[in-house]
Amino acid sequence: MGADGGTDLRARKLSVATKKVVRNSESSAGAEARLQAARRCALSGHVLQEPMCCDSNGDLFNYEEVLTAIVDQRELPARFSHLTSRSAVLKLQGTTNPAYQTFLDLNNTAALGPAPLICPITSVELGASAFVAFWTCGHVVSKEAVGSSTHTCPVCEEHSVRVIPLLSGRQGVQSAARTRPVQTVTSGKDRRLKRLNRRLEKK
Ligand SMILES: [Zn+2]
Repeated sequence: MGADGGTDLRARKLSVATKKVVRNSESSAGAEARLQAARRCALSGHVLQEPMCCDSNGDLFNYEEVLTAIVDQRELPARFSHLTSRSAVLKLQGTTNPAYQTFLDLNNTAALGPAPLICPITSVELGASAFVAFWTCGHVVSKEAVGSSTHTCPVCEEHSVRVIPLLSGRQGVQSAARTRPVQTVTSGKDRRLKRLNRRLEKK
């Protein structure tokens, strides 16, 4: 299905792009909370930056911060007490919002600027409508981009038993809305992640 799959994906992109974004009847407070939660690590309140991960509740985190909490065996709030091993989270393979890094570079904050990720099919920003993550491949797409077989990832066509609705019904980030400077030194982050992963493998 190699070439055909690509054609199908392009055709679906076109057809979805022409559809109107369906707004459901959620409250504006709920929508606002979801927009906030799409920009902040649910654990730390820091600005979300790649690599990111989610848990089975659909909360979003900075992957490095979750790994650090696990390695340090930090005592976490009850809401996050399930974060005890790497397998509790899914490392996301999201599509970076081109506007996001520029925004971070300029402002060093992401109060309510662009979301870090967009749907690769509809280009809708994370948080602006319902999104899902496929546990098998980690791809993140808007719900409206998912075809009739709801467990098939529309990006890679892999089947996933678990499909996680992101940011659904969560009250967003706790009041940790403090703005912190953003570290954008990627190579340093890569080294820290490798070190954390090595420490977890030894356990
Ligand atoms: Zn996929």
